[in-house]
This record gives sequence, C-alpha cells and structure tokens, in this order.
Amino acid sequence: MTDRIREFLRNRREDGPCVVVDLDVVRANYNAFARALPDTRVFYAVKANPAPEVLTLLAELGSSFDCASVPEIQMVLAAGATADRISFGNTIKKERDIARAFQLGVRLFAVDCEEEVEKVARAAAGAKVFCRILCDGAGAEWPLSRKFGCVPEMAVDVLEHAHRKGLVAYGVSFHVGSQQKNVEAWDSALASASAIFRACADRGIHLSLVNLGGGFPARYLQDVPAAEAYGEAIFRALSRHFGNAIPQTIIEPGRGMVGAAGMIEAEVVLISKKSAEDEVRWVYLDIGKFGGLAETMEEAIRYPIRTSHDGDAVEPCVLAGPTCDSADVLYEKTPVMLPVSLAIGDKVLIEATGAYTTTYSAVAFNGFDPLRSYVI
Ligand SMILES: *Cc1c(COP(=O)(O)O)cnc(C)c1O
Repeated sequence: MTDRIREFLRNRREDGPCVVVDLDVVRANYNAFARALPDTRVFYAVKANPAPEVLTLLAELGSSFDCASVPEIQMVLAAGATADRISFGNTIKKERDIARAFQLGVRLFAVDCEEEVEKVARAAAGAKVFCRILCDGAGAEWPLSRKFGCVPEMAVDVLEHAHRKGLVAYGVSFHVGSQQKNVEAWDSALASASAIFRACADRGIHLSLVNLGGGFPARYLQDVPAAEAYGEAIFRALSRHFGNAIPQTIIEPGRGMVGAAGMIEAEVVLISKKSAEDEVRWVYLDIGKFGGLAETMEEAIRYPIRTSHDGDAVEPCVLAGPTCDSADVLYEKTPVMLPVSLAIGDKVLIEATGAYTTTYSAVAFNGFDPLRSYVI
C-alpha cells in the first residue's frame, strides 16, 4: 500500500467500500514496461481500469490503447489520445461498430476468422488487420479459454483472405493468459508467429507486427518476476524465432499496468460460525463477487488482505460478500488466515485491486452501489 492511499483513506468520510488508485504507481509501471521493452509499443488494455484519470495519464506518457468496444474507443479519444494510437482488439465485433470505429479514425483491427475479415473489409476498407492465434495459457492464474484465436495454420489463410479483400494483412497476435508468472510463456507462441510470417511470405504477403498481448502479472500473495525479466525473455524468444528480422512488436498490459496501483477498503459486516464446534469463522464483508471481486471466481486470484489487527494470532476464515447469492463467497476451499481479534465493523484492506474490479462490479445487485472509485 502506498502512503498516498493510506493518507487518502484516513481522510475519507463517505460510507461503503471503495477502490483507491494511485497514479504514481501507474506511471512507474508504464515506465517499467517502456524500459523493459524499449522497441515495443505499449497498448494499455482499457478494460482493466478505464478511469478517465488513468487513461489521461497514460495518454500523456505516450501509451497507445487496446480497446474492445466503441465506448472504450470514445473514452480513449476523450482522454486525449489520437485514433492512430488505438487498436480495436476484440475479435468479436458488430459490423456497424467496426464502421463507427473506422469513422472515428481507427485503422487497426483484430480478427481470428474469415467471417470477421469479411466484416472488416466491408466496414473499414484498407485497414490493417492482425490475426489472433490460440494459446493454451499454461502457467497463467487467469487463463483465457479457446474463445479467442484460431490455430496457427488457419491464421495464414485468414491473413491471405484479408490481403485478397484489400486489407493490409499486418501481423499476428496472441495472449499467453492473464497473471502469467512464467516469463518463458511467450516462446512457443512466438515460434508459431514466426512460422506464420514465413508461410505468408511464401504466399507473397509480408507481415509486420507481432502483438504480444497482455499477461504481465500484479503482485498478489506471491512475488512475481519484474517487467525487466519479461522483457529479456521476450527479446530472447524474438531473436530465437525471427533472427535478425525482428518484427514490430506491441504489448497490451492490463493487470500489470494497474493491478498494484489500487487498493480496496471494505468493512466487516458480520462474523459468525455455522455450529458451536465449527473451527472456521465466516467473515462477511460489504464487498464480494458482485461488488468488484469477480476474479475470486474459483479462487483464481487471491488478494492480500490487511487488517488493523495484523500481528495478532490468526485463524482460518471463510471470506464472503454481502449479497443474497450463494455464489458470493470469495475464499472457502482455501480459507484466509485472519486475526482472531478481527471484529464486526473493522475495516479491511484488499491489496492489488486496481485491475478488473470497477469494471466487474454490478450496477445494483441487491441494491448495493457499484464499487466507488477514487483516482489520486
Ligand atoms: C484483457 C486483454 C489484455 C490484458 O490482459 P492482462 O492479462 O490484464 O494484461 C490484453 N489484450 C487483450 C486482447 C485482452 O483481451
């Protein structure tokens, strides 16, 4: 936790859970990515935290942006970035949204099948497209499914189709899975990417770009490698597979850019047991899965939790949210060790919650307000 966040919370008078994001940490993370991968452009994945202050800061620092919808594109433009710094990175787009993005000046689009190429060709004539390939997500704590991307062999046909349709077949993208703790995870995807470059070249199509995606981790309970280690491993993999002909590259960090910049303050609403003999206490907070902590699904992301009683004796607790939905349990399979002295009404701090919290928060499930956000 940063001193600025601590100071902010000391002075906060409003009731209810909130997330506080420290822009100094976002700036430091951006600079760390820029230093770790000096020849790579950074396209911040807007969905991780689209707060206007975050977008404005990153626009000022020179970042580009990965957007998944027209409203995200409009948020980025409103933050002061020009359309040539925007990629429409969602592979699933309505044709009229492609047309709207094109009208707004966006010229870079993701595809993963010929059907999507057809849409882009009709709605964004002459634009650049990159084809997303499947990645197994091994080593990631929040792996992405088979929903996005095609097999590498098919990508060659997709890109050739784009070329024939008058688009610029521009490159290849992949995502190695979010919260990817293995710095070598990019290697096999880059091997596939270079094979696609060669196969396209054989068909007279010369690709330019490899979009290395996101996946860079935030520190939760365990240490994670620094941006520098990712940069070195990625550069080694690029050299291994592309030799002296290293293509243009971009990264799309979301979690790694903003995760560690945020902290949630919540309150203990109830502490109880299910039977007199129960060894595990149930601790219910005023925030849960529907208030912004959706990534606790299957206990995938385990946030560090601080209380004002840290240092006292601890005992295992099930941690749950306040709503009347039985899915609103954060950690039960692996309980959380919390101080025995923790009491109803105490404040609890949930660390590294700057990414994927405000955007996952429900509008008013059970009448609870969406997660309030302060950017300082
Ligand atoms: C969500 C997303 C990202 C960001 O992923 P992180 O693991 O948070 O860095 C990057 N690129 C695309 C296409 C995405 O959908």
